[in-house]
Amino acid sequence: LPFSLKILGANSATPAYGRHHTAQLLNIGNHHFLIDCGEGTQERLKTYKAKTLKINQIFISHLHGDHYLGLMGLIYTMHLLKRKDDLHIFGQRGLKEIIITQLKYSESRIHYRIHFHELNPEISETLFEDEILLIKSIPLTHRIACSGFLFQEKEKPVRINKAKLPQDISLQNIIRLKNGLDILDDDGNLIYKNTELTLPPRRSRSYAFCSDTKYDASIIPYIKNIDLLYHEATFLADKEEWANLTFHSTTTQAGLIAKSAEVGKLAIGHYSARYKDLSPFLNETQQIFKNTVLAIEGETIDVED
Ligand SMILES: [Zn+2]
Ligand SMILES: [Zn+2]
Repeated sequence: LPFSLKILGANSATPAYGRHHTAQLLNIGNHHFLIDCGEGTQERLKTYKAKTLKINQIFISHLHGDHYLGLMGLIYTMHLLKRKDDLHIFGQRGLKEIIITQLKYSESRIHYRIHFHELNPEISETLFEDEILLIKSIPLTHRIACSGFLFQEKEKPVRINKAKLPQDISLQNIIRLKNGLDILDDDGNLIYKNTELTLPPRRSRSYAFCSDTKYDASIIPYIKNIDLLYHEATFLADKEEWANLTFHSTTTQAGLIAKSAEVGKLAIGHYSARYKDLSPFLNETQQIFKNTVLAIEGETIDVED
């Protein structure tokens, strides 16, 4: 199953040097999650040939414009594309009012249902759950209410070892094996131990989105040992004081969070428009945490199982 993150934008306050506002498309199995929706996100979805109508959940971290101003346009385009499926939008208090107000004064009627889910920025709560996946919020420390998002695959079933499977085994017994049970005869005597006919489950993968936030070690328990962390690094290390004042992070601080949380890989982004060359971002962060990549618009980061 795929588990891949498409970067649609990774710049902060103003677009610069061809870099756009924050938006990411996360594909896990059949799910296509949109994370943040900066201005022009729908154009980037088109540019990168994303299946816009397959997005059923949108997660908006906070109400600074660089994270949500593309939402109204996307909602309306989905309507024009004759979307039928319900759309779930997770966002801070006020987002529903903003969207409803725009629809009201344009006298627009959207021909699909939108469900707004208000985040509680103070706590980590479960936002979505199905058989394969769990999505939780992460409380972040920013100038206004802001939440990160954690996407975790659930523990996977054992895999049938086809090479070892007896030919006459019944479907019922295959289901028992998949459920981790042994195979017994009618009297309850052991015929095969589960481990004789199965392989261990594939790894459960995880991704966390943490933007915007000032350096705050209290997020570490939420992201401990995850495979991929996106953490903002708005400024280079020499701007630490300014980063603290504006409730953003530096390269070094993002690296320290990744290192303490012992994540598999770190992707940094939310670059300030003051920087043209991004290579110092990578160099500085890698000095703290080696397995770091830059979030670059149009690039995909895959999480292997
Ligand atoms: Zn921002
Ligand atoms: Zn912000």
